[in-house]
Amino acid sequence: MLAIDTGYITRVLQDLVRINSVNPVLDPAAPGERAIAEYVGEAMSALGAEVRYHEPKAGRVSVVARLDGSAPGRSLMFNAHADTVDAAGMPEPFSGELRDGRVYGRGAFDMKGGLAAMMGAVKALADAGSPHAGEVLLAAVADEEYASLGTEDLMRHYRPDAAIVTEPTALDICVAHKGFAWFEVTTRGQAAHGSRFDLGVDANMRMGRVLAGLETLERDLRGRTPHALLGPPSLHAATIAGGSGLSTYAASCRLQIERRTIPGESREAVTNEMRALLRRQVELDPSFEADFEVLLVRAPFEISDEAAIVRALSDAATAVLGRKPAYVGQTPWMDAALLADAGAETVVMGAAGAGAHAKEEWVDLASVHQLAQCLAEAAVRYC
Ligand SMILES: [Zn+2]
Repeated sequence: MLAIDTGYITRVLQDLVRINSVNPVLDPAAPGERAIAEYVGEAMSALGAEVRYHEPKAGRVSVVARLDGSAPGRSLMFNAHADTVDAAGMPEPFSGELRDGRVYGRGAFDMKGGLAAMMGAVKALADAGSPHAGEVLLAAVADEEYASLGTEDLMRHYRPDAAIVTEPTALDICVAHKGFAWFEVTTRGQAAHGSRFDLGVDANMRMGRVLAGLETLERDLRGRTPHALLGPPSLHAATIAGGSGLSTYAASCRLQIERRTIPGESREAVTNEMRALLRRQVELDPSFEADFEVLLVRAPFEISDEAAIVRALSDAATAVLGRKPAYVGQTPWMDAALLADAGAETVVMGAAGAGAHAKEEWVDLASVHQLAQCLAEAAVRYC
């Protein structure tokens, strides 16, 4: 098996946590991903990898390092997001402190542990004289925690045959995750003085009918055939705002809805479901008026256990861990869906730890070291 430089990985992980890479959309005072991208780029250059930076928007920098193998073969991308959610309320978000085998700080678990393991895997391959075929790409991407600007942009420049996303999975292999769709419904009423029921039309009351329809639909979703790893689809009425004052009939009411999808549910199907719900309101009351908008749709993700990258990673992990990793599904959306949509056979495997988006976040250091070994061995097997 390839030799893993655990000291290097630990040092790199602590350095990564110490670089503030909070997503600047989530915290306007945050610096963006340039500093962390340059750190990764310089480290990968030092290993002999070819490094390229991509900046689809000012300050939003992704970096891709390419390590060529020693024979023609397939292209495998390791993918991690370099941004984190904000650090509000954390006493020492960028300490990178190592205590009892855990590294602490914002992003340690989600997902600088994964990024450090990827860098450790590239180092193991480089140290061994690049025994893999084809090429290994290491991508540290911007903006996954908001709109995935980074991976979306990279997929215009790279066409890897396969990808391993190192979002945390406690060293299990994630072969499916949910998608989501964001919708906005605005009901229309007629503003009037609160005393003039004869003139006013209450947009908030109209939204009540939409909410009742959504509640019925939500119950119906829970009754549908669940996905084996992800369960049933769901929806919730996430935000609502209507009306302008106590003595005024509400002229409009705006509702934002999040619909979580499972593999097999298309953008069209979930959008049509919402349109049908609104059409029914018009059938019941022809004066009912509402606008409907699709804000963002992200596809669910699923890959077969039989895919070459899944088999390669599973074999590698079995050799490294001494047990066959479980195949699991995860509920949050990930960049994996974008990579899969761009034609890369994609699978997810990451470190163990806790506290993603929470006030205390840590990653289990031993799992980061093991992950690095799994990734390096998977590259040799797959490429
Ligand atoms: Zn993440």
